[in-house]
Amino acid sequence: MTAADGPPLRIGVLASQGGFARHVRMLRRLHADAREVRSPAELEGLDALVVPGGESTTIMKAIERDGLGPAICAHVERGAPLLGTCAGMIVCDSEHLGLIDAVARRNAFGRQAQSFEAQLDFEGIGGEPIEAVFIRAPWIESYGPGVEVLASWEGHPVAVREGSVLACAFHPELTDDHRVHALLMAMATSARESAREGETSR
Ligand code: GLN
Repeated sequence: MTAADGPPLRIGVLASQGGFARHVRMLRRLHADAREVRSPAELEGLDALVVPGGESTTIMKAIERDGLGPAICAHVERGAPLLGTCAGMIVCDSEHLGLIDAVARRNAFGRQAQSFEAQLDFEGIGGEPIEAVFIRAPWIESYGPGVEVLASWEGHPVAVREGSVLACAFHPELTDDHRVHALLMAMATSARESAREGETSR
């Protein structure tokens, strides 16, 4: 899958900590130009960004240490898509980078259910339910009117979207089902097209 025309989508995966390698691998399988990102300069000009799972406190510390916060916010402000998974969902929430109007609850499923798999109906990816791998996952505790819930588990939102930001509590990079990454790439393709239309109508 590539952009309708032009070069492959350039997609950064925040590689400060956590499960970035599997995201890079999956995006490359989908023919994106996927690269690890660790500095504000590497965030420039990306068609999309992934914030992976890991440990949200460690990822937030690295974001602060490396001065990445303003660059990530600027990426979203210019309408470029971002996918946050698991700890990445927490990083996106209004108590952290404030990229979505939602509050995530850490380790929400409790000790008994630290890791589990579930078949989830996921709005907007078509077809069969998605096999979702949850690992000490958060859920969305509360959210504002601009937030669309794409998937829920036991009544709790576990995938949400607000504008160009997509956040899921599970790990879509750990199965062979690439539909969440394909959704991110479709969002990136349309963001690229609207940026191009903006340029030509100016
Ligand atoms: N429990 C972790 C946190 O709170 C998230 C776990 C994960 O990303 N798999 O940051």
